[in-house]
Amino acid sequence: MTTPVLDPEHIAISKSKGIKIDWKDGHHSDYPLALLRDQCPCATCTGAHGTEPQKTDYSKPDSSPFPMFKPALKMLNVEPVGNYAIRIHWSDGHNSGIYSWEHFRGICPCRQCASGS
Ligand SMILES: [Zn+2]
Ligand SMILES: [Zn+2]
Repeated sequence: MTTPVLDPEHIAISKSKGIKIDWKDGHHSDYPLALLRDQCPCATCTGAHGTEPQKTDYSKPDSSPFPMFKPALKMLNVEPVGNYAIRIHWSDGHNSGIYSWEHFRGICPCRQCASGS
């Protein structure tokens, strides 16, 4: 049996900062909270059921001269889903996103992944 490359070796969760993953293939990913919230894979956020995607923009810099007050985003709880994903409960009340390891790997913000094909 071969070990799938897409497994995390170690996951460090900080509810006020974000998630860091060391992958079994030696890759390291560092996900800020805002990025994770914006990349929520649930049907509501992605518009998977033909509905308008309800994307958040926590990670976007505020360009308005009078920025709307945004409460600080936090993770309230993180629960494992099987051994392939985690579900994140956000302080804005959203909790339907199930983040699979594959999804995590796909949204890795590091330079190597961002520039790769
Ligand atoms: Zn969502
Ligand atoms: Zn990466």
